[in-house]
Parts: sequence; C-alpha cells; structure tokens
Amino acid sequence: MPARFKTRSCAVRVTAAAAFAALLSVAFWVPESSAQESRLQEVAPGIWFRLGERDQGHCNNTIIEMADYLIVIDANFPSGANLVMEDIKSVSSKPVKYVFDTHHHGDHLYGNPVWTKAGATTLAYHTVLQEIARYEPQGWQSAASSRPDVAELGLATAEPPMEVFSQIPHVIEDSTRRVEFHFFGWAHTRGDGFAYLPNEGVLVTGDAITNGPFNFMGHGNIGNWPNVIERAKRLRFDKVLPGHGPRGGREVLDGQQAFMREIHASVSSAIGSGQSLADFVTMTDGSPTATSIKLSAAAQNWVGPSFPLQVMFTYEEISQGKPHGEIVGGK
Ligand SMILES: [Zn+2]
Repeated sequence: MPARFKTRSCAVRVTAAAAFAALLSVAFWVPESSAQESRLQEVAPGIWFRLGERDQGHCNNTIIEMADYLIVIDANFPSGANLVMEDIKSVSSKPVKYVFDTHHHGDHLYGNPVWTKAGATTLAYHTVLQEIARYEPQGWQSAASSRPDVAELGLATAEPPMEVFSQIPHVIEDSTRRVEFHFFGWAHTRGDGFAYLPNEGVLVTGDAITNGPFNFMGHGNIGNWPNVIERAKRLRFDKVLPGHGPRGGREVLDGQQAFMREIHASVSSAIGSGQSLADFVTMTDGSPTATSIKLSAAAQNWVGPSFPLQVMFTYEEISQGKPHGEIVGGK
C-alpha cells in the first residue's frame, strides 16, 4: 500500500504522483509469471485479447484485425508495448495503424512513444489530453524513477495521443469490420474511452471496467461510476474485455456496478449515521489497512487488498462533496 497516504488530512491533499504510485501498487500486488510464449486469446475471428503481466504492471490489450492493418487497444507501459508487438507477430503480419489509449494512466498510455516510433497513430477521446495536463509530468517522472522501461525512453513527460475525437461514436470502418469508440462519462478517469465492435458483440472497456480487485479510484468519480456502466450496458455485446483481470461476459459489468454502488451506499450510510473515517477504517503507519465496511457476495470479486484505501477515497469524495479526481487533480 502507498506509504504516502500518511494521514487523512495528507490523503486529502494527495499529489498526482502519490495517486499514481497508488495506481502502480494496485497493478503490482499479485505476482504472476510473465514467462509465456504468447498470451493472445482469440475471442472472435481476427480479435485477440491479451492478458497483461501483473508483475510488470501491464494492462490488458486487445488486437483487432482490419483488412489491411491492425488496431491495438491501449498502448500499455513501454515494456508491455514491446511484448504486445512480439505477440502480434504470431498472429498477423499486418502493420499496427492505430493504438487507442482508453485513458491517461501510465499502464495504458506510457507506451505511446514505442508505437508511434513503429509508425502507428495514437488515438483517444479528447478529455484524455486534459487529464494529461492535470497529472503530467509528475506521473511520468514518478514512473521513470521506478521503471527502467519508462526511464530508458529519455523523455520528460508522457507522449499525448496524436489524434483525439469528441464526436461519439468515433468510427473506424472498412469492408471487413466496424469499430466504434465511445465515451459514457467520468468513471475511472475523465477520459474513459471504450471500444465497441457491434457485429462481433465485443466491448473493450479500459479501466472503467475491471474483472477483479483492480479498481484505482483516486482519479475517479465514484458516485457517477455506476451511471457510466449503465450507459455501456445499453450496447449489444456478450464479450467483455476489461482493462485488468480475465475476460468475461456482461456479468463483469454487473459486478463492477454492484461494487461501486455498494461501496458508495455503505460509506454514505456510515457518514449519515455520524461516523468519522476512523470509525470504519483502520490506519497502520499512516495507511488504510482494514475496514469494517462489508459488501455483498455480488461484489466480492472486486474486493481485495486495496479495499480499505478504496473506502477511504469514497469517504473523501462523499464528505468533500466532489469527485475524488477533483480532490487530487483539480477542476
Ligand atoms: Zn487506469
């Protein structure tokens, strides 16, 4: 757990770098071997899901084959980008033309220079640029101090997406396939983009949807998160490719939504009954280590070691009356 969350008052003033350190700690907590030949799983003809190496902080990726080129969802960290490029060679010789950054976090966007150097065009919803302006260069510099793959690029800050769009859906289409890019509002970040393949029934979610205890809520809007999921659920799909954790079906959105609704309702109820944070979160050496808040069986897949921190973030959002991302990143 991040040591920088020393006290409640410090947490309220948490810096972007500390928030990013928290994100990295979330990505790192489950050791897992990365020694596999190829992690690509074909979920439909010409669409592959790649489970990221959690011990390297990597996100999941999706590769979409078009007639003449490939689209990759998420740039990953630089080390992840290199691994994805290697794995792609086992399934296609087509060039990667587009890389879609689902949001600004390093494990989804810091690999941009690797992809653009290889000739790809990086793409995102336009609010990703605003998130980069809020959280960079601190996030990049923090990552470079602990990650050789970021430091080795020798850059001062993150490379923003080359193209952004504000019209929804943004469509990339050819004779073989239609890919739509959507935005449903602020959940995990203010730039949460989704990729949707209507003909194949595939939804690629970034970190607005995770499948497991991987939710970083520091840059989020916890109260609005279930609304974003509700809008995504209006699409027709049966295959869900999340930002972290294994792929699944629509039940992944249901569980993620239950987790967000329940944590918000439980903390609201505790505050409403006059409790302070210390009444339901235990701090050890300045970090939240335990909580008496309990969620239902429907949400348990999303409850893990970061749960006390998630409860603290929810408390801060509700008690200060603004999305947690505004507490750490401003307007
Ligand atoms: Zn993220």
